[in-house]
Amino acid sequence: MDLHSGSPFWALKNPLFQETDTLTEPIQTDVLIIGSGITGALVAHELCTAGIACAIVDKRSIAGGSTSASTAQLQYEIDVPLHELAEQVGEEKAAFAYRASLKSIADLKKVVKQTGISAEFTQVPTLLLASNRKGLRALKEEYAIRTKHKLPVSFLDREALKETYDIDRFGALKNNASAQIDCYRMATELLGYHRNNHQLKLFPYTEVIAYKRNADHFIVETQKGVSISCKYMVIAAGFEAGRFLPKKVMKLISTYALVSEPLPTESLWPERCLIWETRQPYFYLRTTSDNRIMMGGEDIPFKNAALRDIKLPEKTKVLENKFRKLFPHIPMVTDFSWCGTFSSTNDGLPYIGEYKDKKNLFFALGYGGNGITFSMIAAQLIRNKIQGKKDKREEVFGFER
Ligand SMILES: Cc1cc2nc3c(=O)[nH]c(=O)nc-3n(C[C@H](O)[C@H](O)[C@H](O)COP(=O)(O)OP(=O)(O)OC[C@H]3O[C@@H](n4cnc5c(N)ncnc54)[C@H](O)[C@@H]3O)c2cc1C
Repeated sequence: MDLHSGSPFWALKNPLFQETDTLTEPIQTDVLIIGSGITGALVAHELCTAGIACAIVDKRSIAGGSTSASTAQLQYEIDVPLHELAEQVGEEKAAFAYRASLKSIADLKKVVKQTGISAEFTQVPTLLLASNRKGLRALKEEYAIRTKHKLPVSFLDREALKETYDIDRFGALKNNASAQIDCYRMATELLGYHRNNHQLKLFPYTEVIAYKRNADHFIVETQKGVSISCKYMVIAAGFEAGRFLPKKVMKLISTYALVSEPLPTESLWPERCLIWETRQPYFYLRTTSDNRIMMGGEDIPFKNAALRDIKLPEKTKVLENKFRKLFPHIPMVTDFSWCGTFSSTNDGLPYIGEYKDKKNLFFALGYGGNGITFSMIAAQLIRNKIQGKKDKREEVFGFER
């Protein structure tokens, strides 16, 4: 599948990771991770740090999948609002999922600090704007349940929103628990760090096409006919993981994004918050370290890459217009635009852990608009499972939920 097209900003801004080559000789390892995006990189981080030997293969360049096209906002909010998720899965489970997502932002910060990598991790608040009266009613309900579960949130009425941010909407929820990163850089630097410090083996342009299970290990076959023997397999293959899954658990969505030319700092909105709107299809924005505005949304169901790509010029215009309506005084000019594909699940939760009857085969599928927080959870949960430790999060994020 063609995961993205156009000009994804991180892929233009950062150098290509070219320190390693495709796999040409058979290898043996304890853990084979399929996929070198932010999920595979975080899984490798947790395993290498715990002293577990691992190798990563990727059919593309390193982190060249969805990770290079992401807008990389880190929010504890899950695609399904807490008050709706509570109805779907029960209030305790829903609040547990939100708390796990909140914790993962602090854990991502720790990863950056521990390794000293430069992922442009920056803490910024989130503003979730009520686009209309219906949105305002939903935000009030959301505020009540988040407050009940002691999640960080405050409510801004229309006047406060206008006064503080010069935004004309019906109200907003705010929290100071969010962050933003350059996730292509985070993935590549993390992989480089563990390659240099923990002998992580890293093979780009190496596609896994089949595997078979022997008594206590897997034999994995690559498209170029080389084999890999491993005790555990981790599927961190992003939105192409369907081929490894016994059943379909996600639906594919096309999404659009753009980044502006750099602007003077004083042109940007206060606190450079991450901003979301309640209206569907959603619209969101952030800033970058070089003072650009990055925005996205306009999601539609994915049919094929050609249909997704043909709509890029039209969707770029819609995003620009939405921005101008929100901030008429900011002179934003688009520099690059791109589109990508991602997955969502019915309950907005990821699929992480072992599939029944598939022992030692772990899935790290952070499906959702805020998938990077799920990648962090997947990495820790899988490390725990390999170390023989129980992880309660599997009850909420696993296949048996
Ligand atoms: C436009 C856009 C905006 C987004 N914005 C946000 C955001 O603001 N915040 C957020 O949290 N998330 C966001 N997401 C989602 C986020 O980017 C993803 O959750 C995350 O990048 C997924 O990382 P991954 O490592 O799981 O997948 P990927 O980065 O796609 O990595 C999987 C890798 O597996 C490889 N692979 C697949 N099959 C095989 C195989 N058979 N053999 C070998 N290799 C294989 C692929 O080549 C790929 O490189 C956004 C996504 C898009 C497209």
